[in-house]
Amino acid sequence: LFARPFLFVKGCVRIADLPPMDRVEIAFAGRSNVGKSSLINALCGTSSLARTSNTPGRTQELNIFESQSESLRIVDMPGYGYAKAPEDKVRQWTRLIHQYLTGRATLRRVYVLVDGRHGPKDNDLTVMNELDKAAVSYQVVLTKADKPSAGELTKVISATQAAITKRPAAHPQVILTSSLKGEGLRELRTEIAMLLES
Ligand code: GDP
Repeated sequence: LFARPFLFVKGCVRIADLPPMDRVEIAFAGRSNVGKSSLINALCGTSSLARTSNTPGRTQELNIFESQSESLRIVDMPGYGYAKAPEDKVRQWTRLIHQYLTGRATLRRVYVLVDGRHGPKDNDLTVMNELDKAAVSYQVVLTKADKPSAGELTKVISATQAAITKRPAAHPQVILTSSLKGEGLRELRTEIAMLLES
């Protein structure tokens, strides 16, 4: 599935810009700087794929990537929680995300990336609330697992598990990753491949 390259298709600022619902989609969400671009790049085995999403102007868009050989679409959602974001931008983002999450029948799962050094923050929980309400399946992926000490990581994992335990749309299993060390990538790829088969 990830052997062939994924290509950047387009950035969408409006729901109307999205491609037709003709492929299974998975989306990646997370606070800015959580390591989303790094993870998408590591997952797809390229170093420049998701860089576009970090260039100014692209940050508020849903960035679409597609594999050439398989019918999978990856949607890179704009990073949230950026302190300096203007209020009208945040409102625009919230609206786009809400429309996307509630109206996309082909969206199979959202991977909610959470910083492995800190665990879920308020805005991560807000996104999970939204996903629960929209009944969109999601799974928490801890990033930068190479950074915290083993003891810190254990605490973060417990806090993350506690945060999802009663959430109806959350996958019970938390995936631990490090894009830097390549940790957890195989597990994530396997999960995604299973979604395509189901
Ligand atoms: P994004 O804003 O969520 O797309 O985050 P980026 O992928 O641009 O990463 C933000 C910062 O975290 C960069 O400085 C990355 O080098 C760093 N980073 C990303 N993934 C990892 C990781 O697995 N381990 C470590 N130690 N740093 C990471």
